[in-house]
Amino acid sequence: MENKFDSEKVIEEFESLTKDAKRVQMETLKKILNENGEAEYLKKWNLDGKFDPETYSSCVPVVTHKDLEPYIQKIADGASYPVLTGKPITTITLSSGTTQGKPKFVPYNDELTETTMQIYRTSFAFRNRAFPIGNGKALSFIFGSKQFTTKGGLLAGTATTNVYRSAQFKKTMKAMQTPCCSPDEVIFAPDFHQSLYCHLLCGLIFHQDIQIISSTFAHSIVHSFRTFELVWEELCSDIRTGVLSARITVQSIRTAMEKVLTPNPELADKIYNKCLGLTEWNGLIPELFPNCKYIYAIMTGSMEPYLKKLRVYAGGVRLLSADYGSSEGWIGANVNPDLPPEMTSYTVLPDIGYFEFLPLTNVDEMDLNEPKPIGLTDVQLGEEYEVVVTNFAGLYRYRLGDVVKVIGFHNATLKLQFVCRRNLMLTINIDKNTERDLQLSVEAAAKLLAAEKLEVVDFTSHVDLATDPGHYVIFWEVSGDASDEILKECCNCLDKSFVDAGYVSSRKVKAIGPLELRVLQRGTFQKILDHYVGLGSALNQFKTPRCVGPTNPKVLQILCNNVVKSYVSSTFG
Ligand code: AMP
Repeated sequence: MENKFDSEKVIEEFESLTKDAKRVQMETLKKILNENGEAEYLKKWNLDGKFDPETYSSCVPVVTHKDLEPYIQKIADGASYPVLTGKPITTITLSSGTTQGKPKFVPYNDELTETTMQIYRTSFAFRNRAFPIGNGKALSFIFGSKQFTTKGGLLAGTATTNVYRSAQFKKTMKAMQTPCCSPDEVIFAPDFHQSLYCHLLCGLIFHQDIQIISSTFAHSIVHSFRTFELVWEELCSDIRTGVLSARITVQSIRTAMEKVLTPNPELADKIYNKCLGLTEWNGLIPELFPNCKYIYAIMTGSMEPYLKKLRVYAGGVRLLSADYGSSEGWIGANVNPDLPPEMTSYTVLPDIGYFEFLPLTNVDEMDLNEPKPIGLTDVQLGEEYEVVVTNFAGLYRYRLGDVVKVIGFHNATLKLQFVCRRNLMLTINIDKNTERDLQLSVEAAAKLLAAEKLEVVDFTSHVDLATDPGHYVIFWEVSGDASDEILKECCNCLDKSFVDAGYVSSRKVKAIGPLELRVLQRGTFQKILDHYVGLGSALNQFKTPRCVGPTNPKVLQILCNNVVKSYVSSTFG
């Protein structure tokens, strides 16, 4: 299949799997339990060789990462017996850890690489039917993270790094006519600033061949073109002279780039003039990459705030959201690529894991029993659930922490919309505000900035309990100097836009203090990104933490050290 991609065959297989979702889910569970029955963890739950969903859910508990941590640690420390899986785990994945402030260890194996390829092939088959591409290249802003070995000698790195390093990845990308235009030395460079510069340079050199611009998350594409705005003249100069900028100091990158960079004053002039001709970088992508058919990356959830800027760069080029997954494994593919990113749903592949759904709506608050997760084919349309995953790499009934909404069915499987991370982000007493609520408030307030032709580059929040009563702090990095008047208005608007009844009533009786807007120095979020990359995260998987709490003192310190102005809301008098 890898040699010649047959979209219709992939779609046919997908249709047949999803028509029979219930049976496929049961078989998948049986396969997982059968393969791993000898593992210490599963033996503990006395399944007695019974692999049906009922026995499974009555014997094996629903867990969080914290519950499995001691087992994962044993694996990382080199346990010589099966701990979570029958076959030994040889690689550890570092999840981005944006929520907890530090990366989490997650077991990884070849089966996860295979399910990743299956998701890639499935969504590509549908995408290619709607928007076919010819032979060409992709400008993929992909970055390998640092890898290290654990105490027990296992290789540890981010999930995307594990995927990019696999032989399967290259084969699949080639079959999908979208090999990355940059050499491996650029993808796996030890310094992501240098890597990004060279991705941009390769993109320009191969600009006629670029059919797709992609990354894992939309944030990296926006970040990459923001960087382009700063370095475009230097890039042109490299192309003009054929000499790579002195900012690239890693020898392996220099050697690899020498093979693709030759003096081309004509191309340099062309790019230079095109850039000069653009207003505020509007339509940069179609101007520089005339054959780009679409821009592809995860665009839902916490990526939505970046779509506005991405649309500026994209001009008329279509934005397509990529699939839904995590370091713990994939969940669903985007098989309706014709929908705008904000409306994207993800269709669950019933053979890549065993999925359960923990009800969140209509849960009787008086019922002291925890709601029980239900099976993929038992969920209700329109309801919200937390995803519970059982995968091929040693996670059993694992709460992913994501809230999804069932918005439809594809044959007998589900179409899910991503809602938000489950953990409440902003709460002081009876107020409950999620990532989504914060996003909506920021969106409303940012509209006021548009009058001054400014935008919110990025944002985060914090609950300040050092004051009495406690209050919300919203941090903003703005694209230029906004007047005090406007920022004061923005601050009031933020406060007003948290419409949660608990918040509003607490604000009215002063059980929560006035919201504070703190404006950050330009480049603060770059410092935060650098901090995460330093911890072993990759730009690919980076998601700005939307609430910074006490578990994340370093990021809070970066934020507090970079405040240039602050405003206090007068919304509730
Ligand atoms: P990580 O394992 O660090 O790469 O992060 C995985 C998390 O990213 C998931 O649990 C989701 O919260 C988020 N995520 C992944 N895919 C999507 C998507 N398509 N839409 C929205 N959020 C996503």
